Amino acid sequence: MAGKSRRKEIALERIYRLFELAEKEFEKNPERSKRYVALARKLSTRNKAVIPTELKKKFCKKCGGFLKKGMNVEFKEIGELVEIKCKECGFSFKKSI
Ligand SMILES: [Zn+2]
Repeated sequence: MAGKSRRKEIALERIYRLFELAEKEFEKNPERSKRYVALARKLSTRNKAVIPTELKKKFCKKCGGFLKKGMNVEFKEIGELVEIKCKECGFSFKKSI
């Protein structure tokens, strides 16, 4: 019987993999990269696996778009936080650095 933590671990591995794919696809096919992000978020909810902060900085919670450094996102450091602004929809959110 696979324990809950093993299930979470597997979900996390898949989430990381999906973000890698999203990054790879972003320039050629932004819609597909968006779908990878959506899948990763679904996996996170279903398995109660929290998306790590480093990955949370890579997508917009509002429009679901993948955020690629130097392309469609702006970072601004504010003290111990970083403000992340999605240039696709204008939404901004803060995360710890
Ligand atoms: Zn957005």
